[in-house]
Amino acid sequence: MTFRSTVLTLYPEMFPGPLGTSLAGRALREGRWSLDAVNIRDFTTDRHRTVDDTPAGGGAGMVLRADIVSRAVDAHADGRPIVAMTPRGAPLTQARVRELAAGRGAVVLCGRFEGFDERLFDARPIEQLSIGDYILSGGEMAALVLLDACVRLLPGVMGAASSGVEESFESGILEYPHYTRPVEWEGRTIPEVLRSGDHAKIAGWRQAQAEIDTRLRRPDLWERHEGARVGSPSGARRRTEDD
Ligand code: SAH
Repeated sequence: MTFRSTVLTLYPEMFPGPLGTSLAGRALREGRWSLDAVNIRDFTTDRHRTVDDTPAGGGAGMVLRADIVSRAVDAHADGRPIVAMTPRGAPLTQARVRELAAGRGAVVLCGRFEGFDERLFDARPIEQLSIGDYILSGGEMAALVLLDACVRLLPGVMGAASSGVEESFESGILEYPHYTRPVEWEGRTIPEVLRSGDHAKIAGWRQAQAEIDTRLRRPDLWERHEGARVGSPSGARRRTEDD
């Protein structure tokens, strides 16, 4: 099954862009996924090919018209999830990426200017996703991020099949830190345990490091992770011991 992506954008020339190289590019050429970049402007109705208008209520910038964008969406709606990239959306997670990657693909809508007329989201089943709490100039880079995250999970795309499973966020926390040769660099050595050959000890060390780093760097993730464990019997027991 091919993962079919359709990107609705005012800048189709931005695709596949970086997704045409490396793993994603090879997978694209191998037909493991497809990418169709469609110009929203092709769905305009006037001579000037207008896609936007001034914000109702005043203010700076321009707003993408619901009537025009909906025509582009409707022309490609075929049961695949329809996703709009917007900072007002739900934060994109690895869990959602996994779900999308397991499906038939997605129609991805890229905003520009001040974003979309809100009525678009009332009238169509469009999932709004954000790639983080900062503002990009357009949804294209966000779409590239979403697609890259999905494509690397498709069967046959990543070299070692296992390297998708241990990563940061897959277990709800950050991944452990990595090291490689040289064993000594600028007076710093690779942690002894990693050179011990004791696989159980290494696994234990990695788990501990992952937990420490998550606690320190991402208290938000850690809290959610611990919260999830409280729901399970072992999690509840652990909480009591720690307290
Ligand atoms: N005025 C809007 C920002 C518009 S930025 C606001 O404050 O919410 C223009 C476009 O860039 C958006 O429509 C969206 O498609 C894209 N974009 C910007 N930041 C993004 C983010 N963090 N995640 C996903 N898309 C983003």
